[in-house]
Amino acid sequence: MGGQGRDMIPLPTPRGRLTPNRRLADLTWLRVGGPADWLFQPADEDDLAAFLRDLDPSIPVFPMGVGSNLIVRDGGIRAVVIRLGRGFNGISVAGARVTAGAAALDAHVARRAAEAGVDLTFLRTIPGSIGGAVRMNAGCYGTYVADVFVSARAVTRQGRIVTLGSEDLNFRYRRTDLPEGAVLIEATFQGPPGEPAELAARMAAQLKKRDETQPVRERSAGSTFRNPAGFSSTGRADDVHDLKAWKVIDDAGMRGARLGGAQMSEKHANFLVNTGGATAAELEALGEKVRKMVYDSSGITLEWEIMRVGEPLGDE
Ligand SMILES: Cc1cc2nc3c(=O)[nH]c(=O)nc-3n(C[C@H](O)[C@H](O)[C@H](O)COP(=O)(O)OP(=O)(O)OC[C@H]3O[C@@H](n4cnc5c(N)ncnc54)[C@H](O)[C@@H]3O)c2cc1C
Repeated sequence: MGGQGRDMIPLPTPRGRLTPNRRLADLTWLRVGGPADWLFQPADEDDLAAFLRDLDPSIPVFPMGVGSNLIVRDGGIRAVVIRLGRGFNGISVAGARVTAGAAALDAHVARRAAEAGVDLTFLRTIPGSIGGAVRMNAGCYGTYVADVFVSARAVTRQGRIVTLGSEDLNFRYRRTDLPEGAVLIEATFQGPPGEPAELAARMAAQLKKRDETQPVRERSAGSTFRNPAGFSSTGRADDVHDLKAWKVIDDAGMRGARLGGAQMSEKHANFLVNTGGATAAELEALGEKVRKMVYDSSGITLEWEIMRVGEPLGDE
């Protein structure tokens, strides 16, 4: 047993890195976020499993990918935040199946798959990790993780390594039923076949389109709100639905709106950006203001797509 938790419960001593009071702002795309009580970067899956097995059950854990869908609040997270790195980012291809570690970036997986003639091109422009992609059922251009998912491996909060199928995860729009505290460590996908050159050209076109329509070079967390009527009877998002979040935000006069360092992007009204020194509180408050303005002007209630986690600072 090694360090002391916030409330003095001893933590197990792993082989990987365990850092107390670690600020999370530099680990999130929006560059905001107070400290985690602990940040754990496991050496490998056995290290992760042993740590979770020996961790006092009263201590919560929060698995984090590369923070591209998160507002971590300014007071930080009262938990052991688990971030996978080297040791969890391998990618292998066998026929039409691609297996990737949870820390592998979606873009790298898409490229490796394409080189091997497997079409996972939809992952190319999503800036997250495979753990975050599976957990969020990430998708774009009409394809979702659920469409190509075969299975995933995870370590449960109790420290057991388990294999999960679609029936366990119950994919819905940007949601799954991953058990609380479970950490995804690997996923296998099966994509349709494609010509490597054609897949590469498609990915280049998608990148270009993103660049033209979204503030991809700014600090954001992607779409802030779901498209208001974006659910079909199968629970999938209806990307072609007329009612777009950006449109109702635009109609409510909130494109470009600012609050402190937070702004609704001029380029894409559904992107909340940190223009410099924004706090999480400013970003969240601007989002709530947008929700109110949209509701007042159209009667539509926007739902957050960005996950907001952790605690505000004490005086908020
Ligand atoms: C410019 C931009 C464009 C975007 N475009 C899209 C898009 O087109 N489509 C789309 O779906 N999303 C998009 N996003 C949002 C985001 O990239 C996705 O939701 C992505 O899947 C999040 O992955 P992440 O690794 O960053 O996860 P994080 O943001 O770190 O975490 C998100 C959730 O996943 C969980 N999680 C992460 N890793 C693990 C793990 N190993 N085990 C268990 N749980 C885990 C976290 O606990 C959290 O609940 C965009 C974001 C940005 C900044």
